[in-house]
Amino acid sequence: MSDRSSNDRDRLDKSDAEWEATLTPEQYRVMRDKGTERAFTGKYWNTKTRGVYKCAACDQPLFSSETKFDSGTGWPSFYAPVAPDAVTTETDYTHGMIRVEALCSRCHAHLGHVFNDGPKPTGMRFCMNSVSLALEEDGKTGPRDDE
Ligand code: FE
Repeated sequence: MSDRSSNDRDRLDKSDAEWEATLTPEQYRVMRDKGTERAFTGKYWNTKTRGVYKCAACDQPLFSSETKFDSGTGWPSFYAPVAPDAVTTETDYTHGMIRVEALCSRCHAHLGHVFNDGPKPTGMRFCMNSVSLALEEDGKTGPRDDE
């Protein structure tokens, strides 16, 4: 058994075969192989429904609709995670760029990237793939008229 930092104590480890059995092929491509969905094609880029966006792989809460904003990029964008330890980041040197990769802190699924051109109060833009997220709608808001 390897050592885990205290941050990783709830870390969920599964084999590639296990992930392949539970994720859709598109989810697997993005969340395990660090792919990117095409802009303006995902389920949530334009969603304004209230609720909590959870990790599509392990159900950990990642983002609140309260911090979602219209970035104009075609990907769901947030200025902060729902909790400081919900999302971990790593430097990503692929594709000839230096970017900050965002991962679910629990199952280490690839979520997207973080940029420093976001709105106040954080100035950060968590640019996510819809396919990595599962929105649990806020029951208190009731059904929307436009659905
Ligand atoms: Fe996860």
